[in-house]
Amino acid sequence: MRLEHRLNATEQAQAVARNLLGDDVPFAPVPYFWTDQYDAHIQAYGIFPADAELAVLHGELDNRHFVVAYGHRGRVVGVLGWNSPREVLKLRQLVADKAPWSSIEGSAPPVGALAGAAGPRG
Ligand SMILES: Cc1cc2nc3c(=O)[nH]c(=O)nc-3n(C[C@H](O)[C@H](O)[C@H](O)COP(=O)(O)OP(=O)(O)OC[C@H]3O[C@@H](n4cnc5c(N)ncnc54)[C@H](O)[C@@H]3O)c2cc1C
Repeated sequence: MRLEHRLNATEQAQAVARNLLGDDVPFAPVPYFWTDQYDAHIQAYGIFPADAELAVLHGELDNRHFVVAYGHRGRVVGVLGWNSPREVLKLRQLVADKAPWSSIEGSAPPVGALAGAAGPRG
């Protein structure tokens, strides 16, 4: 998969350097990008298939502060944060864990319950 985002470029360089120095670790990051578009700070972890199911995990779409999960083939494959940097940072672990969609469907986990569960990768 081609990922044209700044962080991916950085993570590729880090992976190359590690493996040149003797590690033997496959390059398999959770895809991530962020962008600021006027007053919207948008962060996206994972992938976002066109036919994904959606679930709001935090906030409300109308007030422009929210985190939405994307489900595909029974798993959480992406989380998108809109003006919600703290919450999306915590909820990204759902993507890293490939959490079952059934575990969040209809009963969004409180963001606080995931606090600390999602440390930075690498
Ligand atoms: C308009 C725009 C907006 C973007 N916004 C975002 C964003 O909001 N968030 C985000 O995550 N990503 C964004 N991106 C994507 C991000 O910029 C790229 O994914 C990232 O810069 C890729 O980094 P890179 O080091 O692989 O390549 P580049 O940053 O393209 O660096 C390649 C470098 O190699 C040099 N080069 C090329 N050929 C040669 C050669 N033969 N000899 C010597 N030097 C050469 C080039 O001049 C360049 O400096 C945006 C891209 C564009 C174009």
